[in-house]
Amino acid sequence: MKIKLNDSVKILSGNNKGKVAKVTKVLSTKGKIYVDGINIYKKNVKGQGIVDIQKPLNPSIVAVVCPKCGKTTRVAYTINDKGFKERICRKCKDVI
Ligand SMILES: [Zn+2]
Repeated sequence: MKIKLNDSVKILSGNNKGKVAKVTKVLSTKGKIYVDGINIYKKNVKGQGIVDIQKPLNPSIVAVVCPKCGKTTRVAYTINDKGFKERICRKCKDVI
């Protein structure tokens, strides 16, 4: 998964299209993410009344917002000179 915890992402489709928020949880086994304040549903739970339930999103409908250049970008991977994998922004080429 190219999206990590605390990434800023922009929602590209659905009810929250255009919103930018932080990733609060990554379910790597399911390939889903939770984004702060996004995809919240009201549910009537017996004994508790109406509660907010958050559903995970498919990461294919979000774009990572690069913290360095502030643009939505595709993420690329490179191997740095120490042999570690790094995520880089395709637009500014900075490590993100
Ligand atoms: Zn960038």
